[in-house]
Amino acid sequence: MQHEEDYASDTSKDAQYFEGYADLGVHKVMLRDRPRMDFYRTLLTDRSVVEGKVIVDVGSGSGILTCWAAKSGAAHVLSIEASSLAEVQRHVVAENGLADRVTVIAATVEELIADGVDAFVAAHPCVRRHGGVALVVSEWMGFYLLHECMLPSVLRARDFLRAVNATLASPPLALRMLPSRGRLLAAPITLAPYYADTFAAFWGCVDGIRLDALGRLEYEAHIAATSPLVDVLPSRCLLHAGEVFWDGNLDTLSVDELTSIAATRSFDFAAATTDSAAACLRDGGCIVVDGFAVWFDVSYGAAVLDTSPRAPPTHWKQTTLLLPREFRDGQVVSFDGLDERLELRLQLTAEDLTHRCYKMEFELN
Ligand code: SAH
Repeated sequence: MQHEEDYASDTSKDAQYFEGYADLGVHKVMLRDRPRMDFYRTLLTDRSVVEGKVIVDVGSGSGILTCWAAKSGAAHVLSIEASSLAEVQRHVVAENGLADRVTVIAATVEELIADGVDAFVAAHPCVRRHGGVALVVSEWMGFYLLHECMLPSVLRARDFLRAVNATLASPPLALRMLPSRGRLLAAPITLAPYYADTFAAFWGCVDGIRLDALGRLEYEAHIAATSPLVDVLPSRCLLHAGEVFWDGNLDTLSVDELTSIAATRSFDFAAATTDSAAACLRDGGCIVVDGFAVWFDVSYGAAVLDTSPRAPPTHWKQTTLLLPREFRDGQVVSFDGLDERLELRLQLTAEDLTHRCYKMEFELN
């Protein structure tokens, strides 16, 4: 089965991409995302993480991460932002009284790298003064972790800054990445609770009249129109706790590894069952799989930002890969006991990372 997304095919050019980030609405969504904000704020206001360090914020947007770090004792923050927001961010920095500790660099990471190591060191004396850059912080995650393909820019920044550090000291100052790890997970789901919460809850009783037939119509149109479906799923949709399909260490990951990600995992219902799976089997019923939820987590030490259906919702929601309608309607993928297993092969392919999206394919066994 193949599943190709098309909802962002028009953002293939960098100019369009950065124009999108000039939209304040996009930043508001991120600034209102509580779990996202809590993860970064906890780390960047922790003096043991930032104190005395030269920090590079890759893709700093509104400047929120930069300001937290600068306020919490960073020696200096180099804040790189390619969209027109960089100009506005200079005011943000000044209004927070941080202008002496922050340099906003209005450029793409790639432009900065093209200028070379010597130009970078010459332009930013704080780097030499502190023996190099100690931390790269970035919020690069897109839907299903990798959408938008911003991670390659973060990895290029990492390699460039390591080269910078190597010219300044021997051994060079170690460069840490925040977050330092990202994982992609998936689990089989039933859509029944999603339908119940998002559609039936309204249509089921409108001023005393059941309008479920209209609800089903809206639901089917919604499912057909969104490919893939990106929405917050009730945790009751999960038929399995989830398996890790990709585990990336940002200290060692290379850009080449991001063009194709593929893994096969076996879902053992007995080993990682959920209340929903157990409920499906009650009274002689069976577990009917409608598709798969895909989500991610990122972490730094013990701090984790989790976007699973079990965690508080984030603006990344979950990405849902559905079986074709005839498979769902026919309940083709179903199990009548917990002792069964379902094997899923998930493949994400970015033929060209500059297109900023992946083709998602899955296969069942
Ligand atoms: N750090 C901010 C914004 C995150 S959104 C926050 O956490 O709220 C990602 C930002 O990175 C966007 O503003 C985008 O314009 C910027 N960006 C993405 N790729 C970039 C690149 N290659 N060079 C510079 N900025 C980039």
